[in-house]
Amino acid sequence: MAVCCEDNEHDPKAKSVEEALAIILDASVPLRDSEWLSLDAALDRVLAQDQIARSPIPAWPNSAMDGYALRSTDGDTPRRVVGTSFAGHPFAGKVMAGEAIRIMTGAILPEDCDTVVAQEQTQRDGDTIHFTSPLRPGANIRGVGEDLAPGEVALPAGTQLRPSQIGVLASLGVAEVEVLRRLRVAFFSTGDELRAVGGTLQAGEIYDSNRHSLLALLRRLGAEAIDLGRLPDDPERIGNTLRHAGNNVDILITSGGVSVGDADYIAELLQNLGSVQFWKMNMKPGRPLAFGRIGQADFFGLPGNPVSTIVTFYQFVAPALRKRMGCRAPWTAPRLRLPCATPIKKKPGRTDFQRGRLLAGPDGLQVAPVKAQSSHILTGMAQAECFLIIPAESGDLPAGTLVDVQLLEGMV
Ligand code: AMP
Ligand code: MG
Repeated sequence: MAVCCEDNEHDPKAKSVEEALAIILDASVPLRDSEWLSLDAALDRVLAQDQIARSPIPAWPNSAMDGYALRSTDGDTPRRVVGTSFAGHPFAGKVMAGEAIRIMTGAILPEDCDTVVAQEQTQRDGDTIHFTSPLRPGANIRGVGEDLAPGEVALPAGTQLRPSQIGVLASLGVAEVEVLRRLRVAFFSTGDELRAVGGTLQAGEIYDSNRHSLLALLRRLGAEAIDLGRLPDDPERIGNTLRHAGNNVDILITSGGVSVGDADYIAELLQNLGSVQFWKMNMKPGRPLAFGRIGQADFFGLPGNPVSTIVTFYQFVAPALRKRMGCRAPWTAPRLRLPCATPIKKKPGRTDFQRGRLLAGPDGLQVAPVKAQSSHILTGMAQAECFLIIPAESGDLPAGTLVDVQLLEGMV
């Protein structure tokens, strides 16, 4: 009964990966409460409202180059230079026929001019410039509203503010921005064998690595991570902690105690304290994964094997958190199709999330599974740059097979 996870048969009582993800996303209701933050404090937060451009960007026609602004109607005839327009210091006079002004990148284009000639395409002789290549009317000008027209949505609600989006808001003059509040996520690990890092181990004990992996994953996602520590395999204590936390947070995550071993009680506790949607999936690694609700919190009971904890987080918890944080779809990471440089070992029955590396092949990118694919070998996960996703029904695959790949960098 206590044997779990490493046999590779389809379990008819378990959900498919696709079904499980659909159930989880369906149950994940986006946050609505918002708060105002100064722009620079809003990195990685999610916009509560559409951000609309009030005025055009650029607000004035300006030069895309350092060069000379002039009227194209005078053709290629040399021009007399009558002034300068610097960024922030416009040229105040008129530019007449046969004249030009020196203009810098970003400086306002005088009303009389319609063209900028790049400095490299001119030769200066005192106050006169000659052109070394044919004039292109309208060249090198940034038009009004080319970036954003007034009333245009610069960034829609649900956008996560990465560095470029912060830049866009600054270009609109936004100093304070309304963002959704942070998702409150509490987590703890379970297991009599677990000890805190920094201490010494007795026979049979291991360091509690999952809690540190989870904290790191949650921080990367921008959640408010609430570390509830580590609990022994004592269903009463675990039950009390779950009951209390379920009324105070948005999401509750545990690791361990979720398979079918004698000390695995999480699914039963979940049933008693709240509701269970499912607790088994046909995936590898990570067959046991309990999902349900306790109090006002969505609950994820992740498997204890360190690789399974991380893989199930990437595949199920991260998309759910993104949706609940108010992010726009898609909530799952994009998939690339890449050839696998080596054969892939796989038994039919479960969807495999093999840990892989990217290789530079003769015809472009390739992937290969890392050597250590067992769910207790955390260094295999740490070597990985990507997941190779092999469908449930698939068996062994020869080298050269195109497989679905998700890059880890950027996934959380
Ligand atoms: P469980 O899901 O509780 O049956 O645990 C499965 C395996 O993962 C066992 O080898 C546990 O010792 C290990 N494990 C469980 N929790 C953790 C943790 N927090 N950190 C590291 N390993 C763990
Ligand atoms: Mg355990």
